Amino acid sequence: MHEAAIAQAVLDTALEALPDKDSRITAITVVAGVLAGVEEECLTAYFNELCKCTAAEGACLRLVIEPAHLICKECDKQTNYAGDGRLALQCSACGGFNRLEGGKALYLDSVEVES
Ligand SMILES: [Zn+2]
Repeated sequence: MHEAAIAQAVLDTALEALPDKDSRITAITVVAGVLAGVEEECLTAYFNELCKCTAAEGACLRLVIEPAHLICKECDKQTNYAGDGRLALQCSACGGFNRLEGGKALYLDSVEVES
């Protein structure tokens, strides 16, 4: 029920940001890291359901997936990790060990409002 909680939090925050009660939310952008484990279809489904009868009904939810990075401990070579499960433990340049960084972000990036 991870996505249900996120959808609710996103909606609550967006509604609180409304300048007045006649305004409507037309689009919301959420940024989620690949490691945050957010299923887009699932999040959109909950969001659309929760939005009913609120100022955000019919709003478009955009999910921007932020990559994580593999950084070599030896040479600092940085590679993007797209969350596909194929984590390279070793650096392709020098064979050193990689560490994983980032990809855990989860935040409301923007809210588009129409009044
Ligand atoms: Zn390296």
